[in-house]
Amino acid sequence: MIAQNNLSLFNTLTRKKEKFEPLNAPFVGLYVCGPTVYSDVHLGNCRTFISFDLIYRYLLHLGFKVRYVRNITDAGHLEGDRDEGDDKFAKKARLEQLEPMEIVQRYTLGFHDVMRAFNTLPPSIEPTATGHILEQIEMTKKIIENGYAYEANGSIYFDVEKYTKEHNYGELTNRKLEDLLENTRELGGQDEKKGRLDFALWIKAKPEHIMRWPSPWGWGFPGWHIECSAMSTKYLGDTFDIHGGGMDLQATHHTNEIAQSQACSHKAPVKYWLHTNMLTVNSVRMSKSAGNGFLPHELFTGNHPLLEKGYSPMAVRFFMMQTHYRSTLDFSNEALQAAEKGFAKLMTALKTLKQLKTSATSTSNITALVEAFYTAMNDDFNSPILIANLFEAVRIINSVNDGKESITIADLNSLQTTVNTFVFDVLGLHDESENNNGGKALDTVMQIVIEQRTEAKKRKDFATSDQIRDLLLAGGISIKDTKEGTIWQVD
Ligand code: AMP
Ligand code: ZN
Repeated sequence: MIAQNNLSLFNTLTRKKEKFEPLNAPFVGLYVCGPTVYSDVHLGNCRTFISFDLIYRYLLHLGFKVRYVRNITDAGHLEGDRDEGDDKFAKKARLEQLEPMEIVQRYTLGFHDVMRAFNTLPPSIEPTATGHILEQIEMTKKIIENGYAYEANGSIYFDVEKYTKEHNYGELTNRKLEDLLENTRELGGQDEKKGRLDFALWIKAKPEHIMRWPSPWGWGFPGWHIECSAMSTKYLGDTFDIHGGGMDLQATHHTNEIAQSQACSHKAPVKYWLHTNMLTVNSVRMSKSAGNGFLPHELFTGNHPLLEKGYSPMAVRFFMMQTHYRSTLDFSNEALQAAEKGFAKLMTALKTLKQLKTSATSTSNITALVEAFYTAMNDDFNSPILIANLFEAVRIINSVNDGKESITIADLNSLQTTVNTFVFDVLGLHDESENNNGGKALDTVMQIVIEQRTEAKKRKDFATSDQIRDLLLAGGISIKDTKEGTIWQVD
């Protein structure tokens, strides 16, 4: 079902409204740089993957077939992301006396658990860099053949100077070559690269390097950037629709991916580049190296010095959705607590929505409200505006429930369908009280308690009914008497 036919998606690069037609119809090709699995993903990494989950979900909702490829980076990641230094996988493996692939396996499984906890949909294909060494070698060979790379002492480097003669190397970040050169360190005397901006496509393995493969240039391992170019091309073609990743990948990793693809196939690899902005802590980017990263399980349990308490995965997901993916998001306990309250309010309203009474007329314009959900998401996946509109729906639901407003059966049907679709299918939230036994048990207990209180009121035993209400309130549960009966919520 294409819900809206005048789509104005993806105005990130051009800021122009345009109709979206997949390049390789019927599939929308979506590639997202996946995690580097030598350690646990932190909440910042999760923000990026959750943002692309929202984008994936919305495309699916609109009726597109999407081939969503998110790789696992399990090779070639050197310290400082440069072409020298220790391999992070091998370093960890040595420290823990494990095989590097044991490290990869452990953190890949951990990553999947975290993604499941945040209710993200699995990608269509999850290729690993180590499983695509042949493709990376073939691509490197083609780039050499085309004259854009050279061999030096068993390693292969991309010739950026040659590339810049015909292409704009800094196009993705609007940077001039002179500025790029200015910001790059000088070549050391020993450096085998010809130019300061040149980067490795293939790196000769030093004797101590464990993860190594044979190639036409001897034993070595691929550079980080060629991994994503080879895997995206293999599964999505020379040119595909959307390539995503965090903003930190734009200047180097994605800039180099464009150069590699142009040098290999003479085509621009990607139509729309989408970059998520950073999750920060006290305005500092959360990163593995800064050591300011919360691990998801620390956040869920509250077991971290900066956390006042634990937060459920859906409260955290909701917290993230309240900010547009291209804006920075600063972590704070207050913001998370506010998100937790907002999420609970939304879930309560969804329960109320199931039992609303209808009337002959509607006091609110539900058609316009539903339209506004789509307008928000069609404008570069603007989830905070979508959520603002969902809270307008919450206001209407509660007003109709309180008898202050009315709604027709047709409008109620439309509101039920679209609100549920956007909350559950598009924002990817779910009611945590409904899918765990604790939540179900609480529901059952609350039914019993509410019945007891209603009985007490019928007997005019107001002392007992008030006592039940006060005891519940002291325990963090508030109840409210409405025309339709008593409703409750955890505060
Ligand atoms: P990595 O595992 O370090 O390669 O990162 C995986 C993904 O997380 C990449 O797309 C990064 O750009 C992204 N990322 C890293 N740090 C953050 C952060 N603080 N906020 C949002 N995304 C991030
Ligand atoms: Zn990548």
